[in-house]
Amino acid sequence: MKITSKKLVDVVTDVQCDVCGESTSDNGRCGPQFGVLQASWGYGSTHDGESYQVHLCEGCFFTALATLKEQHSRNKASSGESCEPGLAFGLVEGSNEIL
Ligand SMILES: [Zn+2]
Repeated sequence: MKITSKKLVDVVTDVQCDVCGESTSDNGRCGPQFGVLQASWGYGSTHDGESYQVHLCEGCFFTALATLKEQHSRNKASSGESCEPGLAFGLVEGSNEIL
């Protein structure tokens, strides 16, 4: 038998972008849409014990992704490897398919 009761629960209604400060929920008109740049560095790393979490709106996320993609291309070029120009850098395979 399940015994139920009502409880008050905190829910996230908005996430502000840590870069530009904009709402990622269109000021509560939709659910928050954001990306997260996150790391927890451990033993053996230069930043051992440090944790980072940066929330990004869609615009800032893709600006950061473009910067990383450009660096990736430069690294490939400097090592003599070719880099596919239309590469969907970071896109999870199958995630953009319509269900
Ligand atoms: Zn932003």
